[in-house]
Amino acid sequence: MTTLMNIAIDGPAGAGKSTVAKLLAEKLMFVYIDTGAMYRALTWKALQEKVDVNNEHLLNKLLQQTDIQLVNQSGEHHVKINNSDVTEDIRTTLVSNNVSYVAKHSLIRAEMVSKQQKLAEQGGTVMDGRDIGTAVLPKADVKIFLTASVDERAKRRHEEQLSKDIPSDYLQLREEIAKRDQLDTERKVAPLKKAVDAIEIDSTSMTISEVVDHIYTIVAERTGAVE
Ligand code: C5P
Repeated sequence: MTTLMNIAIDGPAGAGKSTVAKLLAEKLMFVYIDTGAMYRALTWKALQEKVDVNNEHLLNKLLQQTDIQLVNQSGEHHVKINNSDVTEDIRTTLVSNNVSYVAKHSLIRAEMVSKQQKLAEQGGTVMDGRDIGTAVLPKADVKIFLTASVDERAKRRHEEQLSKDIPSDYLQLREEIAKRDQLDTERKVAPLKKAVDAIEIDSTSMTISEVVDHIYTIVAERTGAVE
């Protein structure tokens, strides 16, 4: 019964959705689906091929020629484009700063949403993104809207970069995160929005494991079947 559930986790950039979703999926033995990685993959490809991120027609053509795969290799989540591993490449600042332009187009979203719905067809997924509870899986069994203040989100990202020895400027990061939120919230098609039936969790003063445990409890209560 529980294996058929789908769990949607939406929220703004850097709220910890992917970390939380991955851990939750492990705990429930569900499949983790990172929908942001799919938009990032197309953005990376567009930048490589010098396709204008504002040109919906050309981007859509590129998407038709691009095989984007989310692969789980012994617990590690990899993203592949036409069979080459782009897991790291899609996380650069350049991709982050362009992805919202790619994700605003209706043709691109229609294709991505259809792929995501297929991935969740059998249930047993934890899917994170911006429009999962509102558009991709409007019937998801549990919907979470995970937020944190923009200061906290920028601080977390800044510390993460520094811990990886990547140069990082807190104020610039904060500005980039706020800009991405604005573009994602204000776009016409499937904007970032809390679904009416989503449970909002503000993680500003919570640890990752507190958030995971909290959602796990919600799932358990909802099903009455998860230990
Ligand atoms: O989740 P992540 O921050 O990697 O997502 C990157 C971008 O992809 C978001 O800022 C948004 O523009 C887009 N996205 C989206 N819908 C989703 C997931 C991501 O529009 N379901």
